[in-house]
Parts: sequence; C-alpha cells; structure tokens
Amino acid sequence: MPNPALPPIVIAGGGSAGWMAAATLARFSGREIVLVESDAIGTVGVGEATIPQIRLFNAALGIDEGKFLRETKGTFKLAIAFDGWSGEGASYLHAFGSVGHPSGVLPFHHYWLRARAEGQAGPLADYCLNDVAARSGRMQFFRAEPGQPAPDLPWAYHFDAGLYAAMLRRYSEERGVRRVEGAIAAVERDGDTGDIAALVLEDGTRVEGGFFLDCTGFRSLLLGETLGTGFEDWSHWLPCDSAVAVPCASAGDLTPYTRAIARKAGWQWRIPLQHRIGNGHVFSSEFMSEDEATAILLGAIDGEPLGQPRTLHFRTGMRTRQWERNCLALGLAAGFMEPLESTSIHLIQSSIARLLQMLPGKACEEAVRDEFNRQARFEWERIRDFLILHYVANGRTSEPFWDRCRAMQIPETLAAKIALYRASGTIHREHEELFTEPGWLQVLTGQGVVPGRYNPIADQMPAAQLSAMLERIASRNRQTVQSMADHADFLRAVIDHSQRKSA
Ligand code: FAD
Repeated sequence: MPNPALPPIVIAGGGSAGWMAAATLARFSGREIVLVESDAIGTVGVGEATIPQIRLFNAALGIDEGKFLRETKGTFKLAIAFDGWSGEGASYLHAFGSVGHPSGVLPFHHYWLRARAEGQAGPLADYCLNDVAARSGRMQFFRAEPGQPAPDLPWAYHFDAGLYAAMLRRYSEERGVRRVEGAIAAVERDGDTGDIAALVLEDGTRVEGGFFLDCTGFRSLLLGETLGTGFEDWSHWLPCDSAVAVPCASAGDLTPYTRAIARKAGWQWRIPLQHRIGNGHVFSSEFMSEDEATAILLGAIDGEPLGQPRTLHFRTGMRTRQWERNCLALGLAAGFMEPLESTSIHLIQSSIARLLQMLPGKACEEAVRDEFNRQARFEWERIRDFLILHYVANGRTSEPFWDRCRAMQIPETLAAKIALYRASGTIHREHEELFTEPGWLQVLTGQGVVPGRYNPIADQMPAAQLSAMLERIASRNRQTVQSMADHADFLRAVIDHSQRKSA
C-alpha cells in the first residue's frame, strides 16, 4: 500500500525513461505513482544498445533474463566495434571487461606497452576475453570452479526499446502504477512556492502531485519549458546533430557486438536484434544533407529496409540543473550526448538509482538537490569527455568534418587525461566515473594515441617472464573462447530454458 501521508509522484512521459522510473519507484518507493503519456505524441523510438549496468537494473526489479530477452527480442552485447575511426579500413573493439590482469603494483597495459616497444606483444585485443569472444561470435555464462575464479566476461544487451518500455509498463501497472492517457496542455505552478502543482491535460483532467519526473523527451516540458532551466550546449565538442534511422531484415551472423562505422561526416550504427537489425546514421547537418545521409545509410545496410528512414534532430548537451524545485528530469529531457557509447539508457538508470538514495519526502531540500546535481554533472561530463576522445583523436584525413574534429579545443579535463597518458602511459579513473581504465586504454590505443613511455617498474620483469605472461593470457583467452557456444545458439538456449521454466 502506498504511503497515504505523502503526495503522489507524477511521471510525465512514457518512453524508456518514464517506464524505467515507474517500474523502479513502484518496486522501491512505497509511494503512489501516476504516469501520464500520450499515444498521439509517441516516443523517440530509438535506443537499443546498452552497457552491462542494465543487468543490475533488471536484477533489482527481479526480471528474469530469459524472459527479458524473449519479450524484447534482445541479443547479447560484448563490445562495440569502431570501424574506420582511425582511418579507412582500420578497426578496433571497445570491449567490456578487463584487458590482461595487473601484475604486482602495475596495471597490465604498462607490461603490454613495454612488450610492444620490444616487438614482443600481440595486438591489445588478444588480451581481452570480451574482445576475442565478440570477434569469434561466441557467448557463454561462466561459473567459478572450485579454487578458480570464473572468466571475466561482462555482457549487456541489444533490445527493442519499444518492447522494453511495454514490458516495464506491464510490470509497473501490476504493481499499482496508474497510467493516464492524454496530452499535457499546461503545467500548473503553486502561486506561493513556484513549485509544480499539477499537469493539466487537453481534456481538462488535472493530475496533482508532490514530486514530478520530467520524462517528456527532447521537449523537456516541465524542467526546460515550465521551470526555464537552461541547457548547456556541447555541440562544439559533440558535433553531430541529426540521425537517420531505419531497421532492416536480419542477414548473416548474429554478432554479439554493436558496430559504429565512421562515415564522411559522422558514423553509422548497426545493432542486431533477434527479428531485425537496427541501423542509423548519425551526422552533422553542417557537413552533410539529410538526403546524402539517407543514401549512405541505405547503401550500407545488410538486408531489406523495414519501413521508411526516419530523421531525428538533436542538440548535444545537458540541462544546467537536472533537479530544480520539485522536478527532476530523466532521459532526453535531462540532455543528450549522442549514442556512440550507448550511455543514454544508463544515464536514466543511474539517475533513478541516485533518486532512490535521495528520495524527497514532503519537501525537496536544497542541499539534496545540489548534491544530486553535482553528482549528475560529474557523471555527464566524464562521459562527454570519453565521447569527445573518439572525435578528436580520429585518424581520418582530408575530410572536412573529421579535420575540424581533430583541430577542436577540448575540455581541460580531457586534455589533462590525454596529456597524462601521452606523457607516461598512466590512466587515472577519478572517483566513480563510468568508463574504466581498460575502456580508456582500448579507445586511446584504437584511435592511435601512443604514450611516450611506460612505467619503468615494468622493466623489472625479466623478458622471458614477460613474454610467457602475455602468451599465457592470450592462449587462455583463445582456449576459453573455443569452449564457448555460438552466440545465436546460446541465445536460443537461454530463451528456451526460461520458456520451459515458466511453462
Ligand atoms: P521519449 O522516448 O521521447 O519519450 C517521451 C515521452 O513523453 C513519450 O511517452 C511522449 O508521449 C511523452 N510526452 C511528450 N510530450 C508530452 C505531452 N505534451 N503530453 C503527454 N506526454 C508527452 N540510448 C541508448 O542507451 N542506446 C542507444 O543505442 C541509443 N540510441 C539512440 C539513437 C538516437 C538517434 C537517439 C536520438 C537516441 C538514442 N538513445 C540511445 C537515447 C534513447 O533513445 C533515450 O535515452 C531513451 O529512449 C529515453 O527516451 P525518453 O523516454 O527520455 O524520451
């Protein structure tokens, strides 16, 4: 039973953000939850690739993995392949999980850098299990054997975002969330406090609440339009402002990774689902017309297009404050950093987790809002830096878009990170920033950023021991991957198993 002493939490919008929030709050908050959405307005209809943290979200809700994959037509994701970013024909993976393992006081990559300088090392990819498994099209769950840790193979998913939202809607409604259909025509504010008091729908219905979640997408109807919270524009760093998207029929192998293929003025995504492939071309409208972007996309998809290509326009950046008064924005209403590293759904999830830690009662205290906004800004800015790295460190010459990206002035935080790595091979992960050292290492290396030296402690390892260590890691990865199942077979087995369990 919801706590009658506290006013309802009202969620405006029923895309991924709205229903993720509704499901979590229904499960944990003990409050009455009302969600308003408009079928006529619809959702953004993209957002299909995730990072491994999504598993924690589903697990917290108690969602069975096989059921989730079955209902969302999902597939496993081990990595993102970046094709052409360091030059036409070049390719590398940013794979989840670790690369090698630390030895003594040093991270693995200092040994790898030394071995590379001595001509003894294989490609970095050979030392990352996720990378080897992704390139081989394999997938498996591992359990620890007695006395031996399980191989480290984190995974995420590709899924149909519309089906995921529908699944979360069922989950939420079963747990008492009240859905109100209708377009919001006005947002009423309290005359004394200035807080949001109610949403007024086109048919005159008033939906009152004590705390409001703005999940209205790019429009940011509550936080942006009503409360006038500013938008910090990052388009000088993240220059793409448009995307044309079209799904196509499945063809070829079911690859357990997303592809991000650099194009003349942006990049193309390929996301394999069970029933189709999601495709899109993210581009800068200053350097390419919509027609050209569409033609490039349609010329480079695997199967028959399923429907007409759809163009979306956006501005990269974030709301200066994501929580203002009694309103918190989630999802696109809070900002957008483009889909290159599949971070948007994660940002919804982490904001929800943060909200649960700081859930307001009757009032929203300023100290709580400030702390929320401080943490959110830190998280967004560090992700922003990681995304910019892909653009600024590109190796595509004689293409005006990419030439300009290479010449851009980058944020000081990123400049310092790159300078530290170039100078000494050191990668420092600050506090709880999302991307880990192996992530930065793979992208820096893949994009051709080479440090001037490695940590001299790595020289203390005898040469024979160093090459034996590298060979041991690479051959263990090869052997582990050989024992793994084909991705499509494994996926089918997981889904069949869950179906048998629920029968
Ligand atoms: P929306 O889906 O736009 O939902 C907004 C909701 O608000 C809808 O229900 C709408 O009906 C409602 N609404 C709006 N106005 C009103 C009104 N006046 N009255 C009533 N209801 C209203 N994220 C990833 O993590 N991975 C990806 O691979 C990825 N790819 C992307 C590719 C592109 C090109 C874009 C643009 C985004 C991508 N994203 C991705 C981001 C992802 O799509 C979003 O983060 C996610 O879908 C959440 O969207 P949302 O719920 O905030 O907004």
